[in-house]
Amino acid sequence: MVGGILSRALKGGGHGGEAADFPAGKSEAAWKAELAPEQFHILRQHGTERPFSHPLNDEKRAGTFHCAGCGAALFDSGTKYDSGSGWPSFFRPLEGAVGTSTDYKLVMPRTEVHCAQCGGHLGHVFDDGPQPTGQRYCMNGTALTFEPAVDT
Ligand SMILES: [Zn+2]
Repeated sequence: MVGGILSRALKGGGHGGEAADFPAGKSEAAWKAELAPEQFHILRQHGTERPFSHPLNDEKRAGTFHCAGCGAALFDSGTKYDSGSGWPSFFRPLEGAVGTSTDYKLVMPRTEVHCAQCGGHLGHVFDDGPQPTGQRYCMNGTALTFEPAVDT
């Protein structure tokens, strides 16, 4: 009896409850086993790749950008633009594809962007983007995969 209460208390006290908050959430151990080390660092530990380091920054073909964690479609190539930042940038995500939270890592709070399906960290959104939204979704290429549109 005592053991049951204790294990329940430990479960509730942990900080790993995040996984269950997302439809495609997993334990951190499962993510670590599945993702490449640099993907794990960015998606699960809120890392940031070096600017101009990822080939998707220069990807200009028509297609869809997906989450490298769970495969969910996140951005259409029609919303990608060259922000000059060195990270893949978009002015609008696909509807309902991403969520945001406030990130206090730097002195100025930033808005963190994550996959709505698995909770994986993708990058940040800023208010200095082009029209029609005025927003700049500054993404890590490492957190994305690209699927070219099929020629018809
Ligand atoms: Zn995802």
